[in-house]
Amino acid sequence: MHMEPIRQFKDRKFLLTSEIEGGNAINFRKYPGDIYSFEPKRDPGENYSNQAYYFKFQIENLQKDPQHVTVTAIADYDDVWKGWQFSLNPSLWTFSPNKQILPEKLPRDTIRATPQSMSINLLLQSYQKLIISNMLAFPYSQLLDEIERLAELYPTFLKLTQIGLSPMRNSIYSLKIKSDSETQDNCCKILIAGSPQPNECGDFATLTILQEFLNKGAEFWDDFLSHFSLECIFFQNPDGMILGTNMVNSKGENPFFAWFENTDDMPEENQHIWKYLEKNKPNLYLEMHSFFQDNKTIRPYIYPVDLLSNKKARNLYQKIVKLLIRYCNGMKEEIQLNQPYFRNTLCYKLMERYHIPSIQFKLHSAMNLSQITQTSWDVFTRIIKGIKKG
Ligand SMILES: [Zn+2]
Repeated sequence: MHMEPIRQFKDRKFLLTSEIEGGNAINFRKYPGDIYSFEPKRDPGENYSNQAYYFKFQIENLQKDPQHVTVTAIADYDDVWKGWQFSLNPSLWTFSPNKQILPEKLPRDTIRATPQSMSINLLLQSYQKLIISNMLAFPYSQLLDEIERLAELYPTFLKLTQIGLSPMRNSIYSLKIKSDSETQDNCCKILIAGSPQPNECGDFATLTILQEFLNKGAEFWDDFLSHFSLECIFFQNPDGMILGTNMVNSKGENPFFAWFENTDDMPEENQHIWKYLEKNKPNLYLEMHSFFQDNKTIRPYIYPVDLLSNKKARNLYQKIVKLLIRYCNGMKEEIQLNQPYFRNTLCYKLMERYHIPSIQFKLHSAMNLSQITQTSWDVFTRIIKGIKKG
């Protein structure tokens, strides 16, 4: 018998629900003593990444009085939280590796305990609603509002273009600084985009770079535009953001590793972006990611310099990555020629097909908003510096 996952639970005191944008927790249950549990849903894309679980749901206090509540995430295999303690705010989450916390509190027959579970204790104020997630994953709708707000705020300076629609008919956008700089010789067209992995904060990081750029004002803009142009692409995987997936789109495809030789084989989202990029080629591509593993280091992903056709481009690439590696205290990740999966990323494809220097940058999922903003801007300014020197 196939059981539909339970996406909502309500009693007199609380409503726990995944019926929110990006909501994906399932099988909510209640235990004595204001303890509730849920199961994080496994993502079909985890085979590529070990990113088994990313969860998001909402809890609401249905009562007038403030209420204490404990919510526990129960995983269905042991190493599920491997590395994730670094992504979690330790003042909020209690991470319990190899300890069977739940059976101490709960009758054994009511729950299939796993060696690894984690709990959060909350105090919810009168009728308060709280979205709980183990990663800083921003809703598509909120980022879209902000992008539209910026386009309205700077109507003569920013150009918003819809690049295409996802299978669920959500939009992929370009937001570009309008200037004459592109017509000049030696203008370096910089393109920045967020990762298509919805549980990484790539689109948000991209947006913070643009916001910082806009905050700098006319003098900075004029200087920048005498050497560069700037374009940002948002929402490489909008359906995944709305569905709350780790790696896949609404068709179960993994857009990050699906920039195939034959355009028709790509997910629809990638096809739209690729067709757009073929008409609007950048001179440099930066893709923002975050990760949760191991430790809090940040790092660039460097693609094989041999993919670049000429010496000038190779030198420039090496100069930029050197600056980024120095910024990351020596941390880097080197992608090899024809490396499985990574040879089908957008960075690899742009390097291979059009010899466009391309870099991924990994932030850490445990970063707070100001750390994301500062680091993303630092990465951007180092790239600018590298190009100016080169
Ligand atoms: Zn990533």
